Amino acid sequence: MVSTVKPTAETQHLPGPKAEALVARDDRVISPSYTRSYPFVMDHGKGSEVWDIDGRRFIDFTAGVAVLVAGHAHPAIVEAITKQAQKYIHMAGTDFYLPEAVELAETLARITPGDYEKQVFFTNSGTESNEAAMKLCHWYTGRPAFISFLGAFHGRTYGSMSLGSSKALHRTRCQPLLAGVYHAPYPNPYRPPFDVPTERLGRACVDYIEHTMMKHLVRPDEVAGIFVETIQGEGGYVVPPDDFLPALRDLCDRYEIPLVADEVQSGMGRTGKMFAIEHWGVVPDVISMAKGIGGGLPLGAIVAPKRMMTWPSGAHANTFGGNPVACAAALATIKLLETELLANTNEVGAHMMARLQTWPDRFPIVGEVRGRGLMLGIDLVEDRTTRTPAHDLRDQIVDEAFHRGLLLLGAGAGAIRLCPPLILTQDLADEGLTILEDLLAAHS
Ligand code: PLP
Repeated sequence: MVSTVKPTAETQHLPGPKAEALVARDDRVISPSYTRSYPFVMDHGKGSEVWDIDGRRFIDFTAGVAVLVAGHAHPAIVEAITKQAQKYIHMAGTDFYLPEAVELAETLARITPGDYEKQVFFTNSGTESNEAAMKLCHWYTGRPAFISFLGAFHGRTYGSMSLGSSKALHRTRCQPLLAGVYHAPYPNPYRPPFDVPTERLGRACVDYIEHTMMKHLVRPDEVAGIFVETIQGEGGYVVPPDDFLPALRDLCDRYEIPLVADEVQSGMGRTGKMFAIEHWGVVPDVISMAKGIGGGLPLGAIVAPKRMMTWPSGAHANTFGGNPVACAAALATIKLLETELLANTNEVGAHMMARLQTWPDRFPIVGEVRGRGLMLGIDLVEDRTTRTPAHDLRDQIVDEAFHRGLLLLGAGAGAIRLCPPLILTQDLADEGLTILEDLLAAHS
């Protein structure tokens, strides 16, 4: 179908000349493995708006892939970074004691679910957080295997890639991966793996783990940990049914298996609570985070009960983890979340969701809208009955949105994800949604 939506005068010749030249240079020297959907070339940003190097303005519904909780160039984050950089930038938390890392660890222990003593291991990214969680689970349990879920994404290094299964391409020509990782069906309510009512779907998946996987594939006393994305991110912003996480917690309790919540994408306020798992009142054993924590600087962490942190000195470490500048940015980010951003996420998220909820009735290509807070997914389908993901159309709409001045990202086979900065105003939210509505209408 051909779009009837015309780009605005401001954006119609994208990419502009400077962007075009930069993309050509990038093509020559940057690895082709990255997943660029359209040629946006960053110049600068403010709040939820960005400008490219040709001076064109865009609304940012990506936040640099769910990272920039406080938006672009937030003065409090810039000040925290600047002040810390003037004091010292690096001094290897692996070998020395860093006050900023201790303060952040104390803060993370306070804001994560679970009323017990916790300890923190700092990393530089989401994948590294999950690798650390895997090693910790091995150390604590002495067991060899892991269970994770189909459609999950946990990162791109060998351990986390072995846990993930969102796209076969990630693993192509990289096999064999880690032995002893078993994938369970994920309770996707829109494309359920079992023919049961949605309110029993989570329990059905957990029963499958217990009665099929643990009977035929791996005994529970061999499982070092169960990894779950509280809300699946790269897999399509899929929110599990309410019975799932409590049933999974119960299974883990009965077999003394650590439950690891990967909140790399859903954490740090994105869903309107500090961590998404709080929506279900479930306390994981290990919580893994990155993306939103560092105010845009590379930082990740795992937080675990002190009783689990059994690994001895030297068992695990890194050079950059707990970098003081990133920790200062994280402390400023958490302060903003607690004082204003969580409230804004709930308010603007509810406003956006109310508008999104009208879309399945208005646009036949919209199969489902879903999400929490400002983690919102729009599932585009070729056919409402088969629910076949409209992959190419989704990519086309994301590209056309770029030409209209709106930055979007896909997720899963046919979904568009909206993960704007949590500082997004209602006016900018509406301006962005109007562009998207126009495009959906043109293609319906
Ligand atoms: N876990 C989840 C849920 C993610 O969404 C991501 C990244 O998208 C990762 C892990 C990997 O994080 P990183 O890209 O920082 O390694």
